[in-house]
Amino acid sequence: MVNRLLFAFHEEYQALKRERGVLDFADLELKARDLVLRGDVFGSRGGEQTRARLSLAEAVVLVDEFQDTNELQCSILEGLGAARLLMVGDERQSIYRFRGADVTVFRKREQELETGGGDGSGGVRRLDVNHRSSREVLSFINYLFAQEGFFGPDFVRLIHPEESEDSLSSDRSPVPFSDRHDPLVEVLVAERQAESDKEGEPVTQTIQEAEARVVADRVRRLLDEEKRKESDVAVLLPAYTYVDVYQRALRERGIEVYLTRGRQFFSREEVRDLIAFLRVLVNPLDDLALVTVLRSPLVGLSDDGLYLVSRTTPNTVGQKGTLWERIRGAERTALSSADLACLERFLTGFARLRPRVGRPGLGRLIDEIMSTFDYDFRLLRLPDGKRRLANVRKLMRMANEYEGLSGPDLAGLVEVLRSRGDADDREGEAPILGEADNVVQLSTIHQAKGLEFPVVILAGLGSDVSHGGGGPKSTVVIGDDGRVGVFLRGSRHHNYEESDLCWGPGADIEEEIRAKEEAEDVRLLYVAMTRAKEHLVLVGAEPRDTGGPSRMKRILRGLGIDGELPQEETLVERGETRFLVRLVGQAEGEKGRRERQRTEENLGSAEPPASTILPALLPEVSHVMRPRQVSFSSISLYQLCPRRFFFERVLGLGEEAGFARGDEGPGLSAPWETTLPDEGERRAGLEVGLLVHALLERLESRELPPAAEKLRQLAEDWLLETGLGLEEPELDRALQLTLAFWDSPLLSVWASPRAIKEAPFLFEQAGVAVSGVMDVFCPENDLARIVDYKTNRLGGRSPVELAQAYTLQAAVYSLAALRGGASAVQMDFVFLEQARDPVSFVYSCAQEADLEAVVERALAGLLQGDYRPRQGEDCRLCPVGELCDGLTATEHPVADWRVAVG
Ligand code: SF4
Repeated sequence: MVNRLLFAFHEEYQALKRERGVLDFADLELKARDLVLRGDVFGSRGGEQTRARLSLAEAVVLVDEFQDTNELQCSILEGLGAARLLMVGDERQSIYRFRGADVTVFRKREQELETGGGDGSGGVRRLDVNHRSSREVLSFINYLFAQEGFFGPDFVRLIHPEESEDSLSSDRSPVPFSDRHDPLVEVLVAERQAESDKEGEPVTQTIQEAEARVVADRVRRLLDEEKRKESDVAVLLPAYTYVDVYQRALRERGIEVYLTRGRQFFSREEVRDLIAFLRVLVNPLDDLALVTVLRSPLVGLSDDGLYLVSRTTPNTVGQKGTLWERIRGAERTALSSADLACLERFLTGFARLRPRVGRPGLGRLIDEIMSTFDYDFRLLRLPDGKRRLANVRKLMRMANEYEGLSGPDLAGLVEVLRSRGDADDREGEAPILGEADNVVQLSTIHQAKGLEFPVVILAGLGSDVSHGGGGPKSTVVIGDDGRVGVFLRGSRHHNYEESDLCWGPGADIEEEIRAKEEAEDVRLLYVAMTRAKEHLVLVGAEPRDTGGPSRMKRILRGLGIDGELPQEETLVERGETRFLVRLVGQAEGEKGRRERQRTEENLGSAEPPASTILPALLPEVSHVMRPRQVSFSSISLYQLCPRRFFFERVLGLGEEAGFARGDEGPGLSAPWETTLPDEGERRAGLEVGLLVHALLERLESRELPPAAEKLRQLAEDWLLETGLGLEEPELDRALQLTLAFWDSPLLSVWASPRAIKEAPFLFEQAGVAVSGVMDVFCPENDLARIVDYKTNRLGGRSPVELAQAYTLQAAVYSLAALRGGASAVQMDFVFLEQARDPVSFVYSCAQEADLEAVVERALAGLLQGDYRPRQGEDCRLCPVGELCDGLTATEHPVADWRVAVG
């Protein structure tokens, strides 16, 4: 029955993978084996020809870390048919059983080569001189790992180069120590805290907190008294489970930490808040996300405020009383002035950001949320602010990567982020310091493999370790040879059964697994300790008389230390080794706790230093920040002024005046403008453009123009939704421009059932992804039609003259259509003030190379990081002019809509 169940599961799993078009790691191995052994490529036989192409008959193949392979991987290696195979490994360092490594493969191969088995042509060369660690460290390892419970008496001791000039010499007697300094091996045992938390008694600490405190204090002394650099020290842990506890303890003592790879990125407050905001942008009726946003530091509504809002009766018919409706209908007078301000700020910010949904630039959208709500400044004021900000940057990178693959689909991004966070939050936090910086490294033992550090603190040794059966709750256990056992867990009864009910050889399999896991645990300790070059410190909580075995218990037993542990630093000598042992008491823990409280208080009120807020404002032109994706609006902005592009798009300053819609062309002013618009005109012009585009997107295709009343109603709905406000004359102008489109000969293209309104595009050019949004895209057989509405004031000029400023847009959009498979493309600009006379640009696929050249020229400076200022008329209205070194203050009179920095 079990076999049938497993078989059914296997079939189901295979079908699911086929359906989703994915391979798991085992598939990669199996397919690689089929390829090299049989020439199979995904089921189609290439046979001998494929095998011959893959053959390495002329090559010498070196396999490193051979102890971490398994039979399947070995068969792939052998299938390559290398002329010679050199395998390097150390069975004592085999620590990847959890991902399929089988140390017996190494042993078997070693034995074959030693006894002349296999083809008899190989041999074994032992390298037991250790060039990494000091004699003190090696002596300790040699002693400990030769004990029962470790590798035992057969352990082949490690040789220090001083002990023998020739590693193959038979004279390997240990050289005596000099007495020049204290032993550089320490065993620090953290005293367990009281289990109760009654008044007057010490606060209960977990054993992890006790261990972390000992580690942090010891690191502090290494830095202060023993003059070690931070980068000399690595703290290694068996697992990541409690890494936060160590990180916090070290930081509380002012020690900068580089975490090799943390977890729980999606559980971080700042990441959760921003994902919730994205969810609300996608669907404001998502109550759970909306509550998260309202209570987050993004908005900061109080509990009372949230309660009052949730009690409001919705005033819109048909909305079933969602929180969103209640917010919009909330009785403002009931709220405190602070809550009222929070709510107004949220609604205004939301209205501003909502139109961004569906537009390219997902990473940038997150950036805009940050700046709209001053979230970056808020984060920097919180403890660990720089890390929080780095996490946000990481989220932006993830959004951009998603967009690179799937386009600007915000709903899709939200779903991916949610499912990744829900499934298993193994995503690491963003590092704010590199391992090359002068910082203490915090890492798991597995990640430290292959590395070495002057000082290694091996911590986390006090937790109970339970081995066997892949965990105490496994129902099905599978042996290496394919035997299966099934347990009915929880069937154990003290007076009745001695163990859980079991079918098949479950008990035997569990025992085999337990023995293998224990053996691997010894190897894990060996790998960790052999990372130390000069100084090794072992830290673990005091073993308990009751409870499961711990690594510290095993180490103390191996070192022959039993009974009461010394409170003072005590020198212990065992054979050729000596080391310090000490029980570190609770009193020091209390001191550390008080220090921590003080630090937290200080951190809570601390203003971030100015240098953490203010970025360097002027670009390092020599340092190329090559983007992976650029939107057409970015290219346009760069054409207008590279320095302004740098401020707005690289540093994220300014409000991108003139580019709010993302693809609107040449910016603040254009060559045909005889007078520059003032701020009000500029804003109104932008908003008119946004409204016209929104209306032409929402209107259904009809031969007749929409009724004026309906059009006005649509416009008012949109203004309410977005929070934008237009004066009556501008609103009238927007409605007239919209209706004017019905005079255009392009109406039939717009109304075609094949037409896609607001069609996003993405293509690669010069190694970057170029994105944008077409107002209308309509494939007509082999000809692609693109329509772009323009709301510019003509100012006495003809559409043909104005269109000259949009040749780059025509090139980029047309190239996108040709790349999409069209044989030819016609791009029409409709200047709505004269809609009867569109201006057409027509290209055939024969001109694709010319268009590519145009786009590459436009991208060239941007990709080289050339951000030199391009001074001109636009400088007078530039929103970042005050920050710009291209102008003096007197040359830049407009100041009231510039962005304040710092
Ligand atoms: S002030 Fe002029 S030169 Fe400076 S960034 Fe603005 S547009 Fe460019």
